[in-house]
Formats: sequence, C-alpha cells, structure tokens
Amino acid sequence: MKKISILDKDFELFIPYEKIRAVIEDMAEKMNQTLEGKNPLFLCILNGSFMFAAEVFKRISLLDAEISFVKLASYEGTSTTGTVKELIGLNEDLSGRTVIVLEDIVDTGITIDKVIDQLQAMNPADLQIATLLLKPDALKKDVKLDYVGLEIPNEFIVGYGLDYDGRGRNLIDIYKVVE
Ligand code: 5GP
Ligand code: MG
Repeated sequence: MKKISILDKDFELFIPYEKIRAVIEDMAEKMNQTLEGKNPLFLCILNGSFMFAAEVFKRISLLDAEISFVKLASYEGTSTTGTVKELIGLNEDLSGRTVIVLEDIVDTGITIDKVIDQLQAMNPADLQIATLLLKPDALKKDVKLDYVGLEIPNEFIVGYGLDYDGRGRNLIDIYKVVE
C-alpha cells in the first residue's frame, strides 16, 4: 500500500485515479442526458473542487454549457449565526437558469446547505448539486444531492484537489489519513 506523509500526518492510498475517473465519466454521462437542450451553468466551489470540476466539465458534450468559479469566504458572525460562509465571485445572473454546483466533498452537509440557500435566493430555474464524495455517516443536514460520485467512510482524505492545511491538492489519487 502506497504511503505518504504531509506535515505531521501519514496517509495511505485510498481511491486511485482510475476509479475517480470512472466515477466522473458516469456522472458526466448522466449530466449529458439530463441537461440536453439546456444552457446550464456549472459552478465550481473553489478551492477543493478545481480538479473535479475540470474533469467533469471536459466531458460535458453540450456546446451551450458554461462554467464559473466561486469561493466561500468564512467570517465570524454573531453568536447566533456562528461562522458565516458567504459565496463570493459570482458575476452571473442565475435567474431562470439551470445551475449545477460542483463540490468536492459533503461531510456534515453544513457547507453545501449554506451554498444552496444563497443560490436559491438568486432564483435559478433549477439548482442541482453534484459532489464527488459523500460521507453519509457524517451528514447532519437533509440536503438533496443530485449526483454523488462515491460514498466514503468518515475519514480525513487528501488529494485530487482536497488539501491538508493547503498541502496535497496536487496528488492525482486520493489518500486517507492513517491514525
Ligand atoms: P461540511 O460542511 O459538509 O461538513 O464540510 C464540507 C467541507 O469540508 C468540504 O468542502 C471540504 O472543504 C471540507 N472537508 C470535509 N471533509 C474533508 C476531508 O476528508 N478532507 C478534506 N481535505 N476536506 C474535507
Ligand atoms: Mg470544499
């Protein structure tokens, strides 16, 4: 088993790139069917989703597909709102559009839930969520996920865009932490 170290943690190979690619090929195929005849706008949630987004988007065969990149800015809210995560960098008008969010991983679901709230407020005609990875055992929010690549156990992973303290995003495969 391939092992690596990043900062103070050890990781072992968990999902090889070939598996990631196969999952994304399936997902893109489903999207191509669902989105036929539409002018969809894909929204990549930076930073973690950049590799996933590129890999999905190059397999979208519709010539009318667009992609844009947004980021979540975290700041401390009031004691009742806790940490506020605000979507920044969105310049497109979403009203009446088919929007597909591309997220790297859904863990508790709190992040994607906040993203959904903010995007719904912009009145898209249809809002779909695609996540490469889902940790079902960690999920606390009842979120509607339209496309899920792989369900994984509750373990910390890096690679393929996902980081550990800024490192590991450049790994082609996905690794999990070794406790
Ligand atoms: P949630 O709000 O669903 O709990 O967390 C979602 C965000 O937490 C993801 O967008 C990702 O940035 C981060 N995250 C959750 N699990 C992992 C993980 O195993 N590895 C890494 N690198 N990030 C994770
Ligand atoms: Mg993320």
